[in-house]
Amino acid sequence: MQIDTSKPHPARVYDWLLGGKDNYPVDQQVGETLPEQSRRSAARNREFMHRASAWLAARGIDQFLDIGTGIPTEPNLHQIVQAIRPESRVVYVDNDPIVLRHAEALLVSTPEGATDYIHADVRHPEAILAHARERLDFDRPVALSLIALMHFLPDTEHPHALTRTLLSALPSGSYLVLSHGTADQHPELRQQVEDAYKKGTIPLRMRTRAEVEPFFEGLELVDPGLVFATEWYQEGPAPVQERSGFYVGVARVP
Ligand code: SAH
Repeated sequence: MQIDTSKPHPARVYDWLLGGKDNYPVDQQVGETLPEQSRRSAARNREFMHRASAWLAARGIDQFLDIGTGIPTEPNLHQIVQAIRPESRVVYVDNDPIVLRHAEALLVSTPEGATDYIHADVRHPEAILAHARERLDFDRPVALSLIALMHFLPDTEHPHALTRTLLSALPSGSYLVLSHGTADQHPELRQQVEDAYKKGTIPLRMRTRAEVEPFFEGLELVDPGLVFATEWYQEGPAPVQERSGFYVGVARVP
């Protein structure tokens, strides 16, 4: 599959923000136009993924469907959960050709577990579910992670309804792990962030708290609830007080 290096891609801009090497000058340009805060926010978002996945594995979850995986960045989700539950099965999904190209790094599973990669778009949830059903047991709980993904879907793509469609396929006891870009904690940076992505022709739809809440409709949010990425800790308060560009939450399917 062809890598288009003439225009920036979300996966590659995010890779640049995390200090990765799998990006191109067009992506770096977007990254450099973003506020300094964006790099910290990206790193803290990734760390939330680590904590939330580890927490779920420790709770007994051993099946994971991760949509909008991104370019492999160690530790990847399967490395986190298989370190706790070696038998974990992880299905990764992304629609970017560069993620497909690097997918081998995601396919190095423990012998007891399994990892798989599907090149697909979250806007086609039925196709994703059909593939995932071949690899995961949908009669047992699955953790669906949508991490730093849905802010790339404008309202006209119905991100909330897509999330509901995905969740409706999962049995009781499953979980949603979601993080979503927001300017609620630094409204003064909103314009700069929006302009940088717009110039790169990447649709970005940061959402307010009230706009992120509906992703969790009908679910049971686990403590500490819908919070900023820097605040999601299970044991004790956050070690650092830092503003964040991401709302996060983990919720159980009743
Ligand atoms: N979840 C990872 C990476 C976030 S970057 C993390 O939080 O660390 C967002 C990812 O979503 C990118 O890899 C991008 O390619 C992917 N993405 C964007 N739109 C998508 C879509 N419509 N379908 C599937 N993946 C998409």
